Amino acid sequence: MLFPLASALIDSEVRQINRNPYQWLFGFTAPYLSPWPVTLGRMSDAALSEVVALPYRVGYGEDAHRLAVGRPLMLGGVLVPSARGAVAHSDGDAALHAVADALLSGLALGDIGQYFPDTDPQWRGLDSAQIVRRCLQLVAQAGYTLGNVALVITLDTPKLGPLRRDISSSIAALLELPQSRVGVSFKTSEGLAPDHVQTRVTVLLVQR
Ligand SMILES: [Zn+2]
Repeated sequence: MLFPLASALIDSEVRQINRNPYQWLFGFTAPYLSPWPVTLGRMSDAALSEVVALPYRVGYGEDAHRLAVGRPLMLGGVLVPSARGAVAHSDGDAALHAVADALLSGLALGDIGQYFPDTDPQWRGLDSAQIVRRCLQLVAQAGYTLGNVALVITLDTPKLGPLRRDISSSIAALLELPQSRVGVSFKTSEGLAPDHVQTRVTVLLVQR
């Protein structure tokens, strides 16, 4: 249960989202990008009030990219030595994209495709850490903190085992969590998707 002042502040924040969601999220207006107002405009007061009512919220996200020669392979903010990398409009970091989606999902705020559309040239080559940082701000503004995060990264080659510590510590630093609260598992597709990298993420949001 929140104190009345905190509730009032969050209600005020919610009204601000409905008034100008783009500016609220990014700190500037981008009227030619329409999904924000449309999506948030449809959010009911009841759905938004749930953001402040639950002691815990679970978020889930997943992301996949096709692999191609000559592209960098970024995972969790770490450049993975690989002949092939993710084909993407941004830096193609499937791990961070899935983390960002999980954070938005936990708040029932949609997905990053709505806010960083791959048809918009301004997001070309975007550092995915920026997306995650913005989603973390949303989590804080909604009155939540991160409990723990669990990632499963599926990639056939190269093997990621030697980079386990690099990837988990990079994600932990970005999320401002101790490494003990960031679980990173590596899987292969057993040849079912040798030309893809995929990440699935769950997050636990805890009401402050
Ligand atoms: Zn992606």
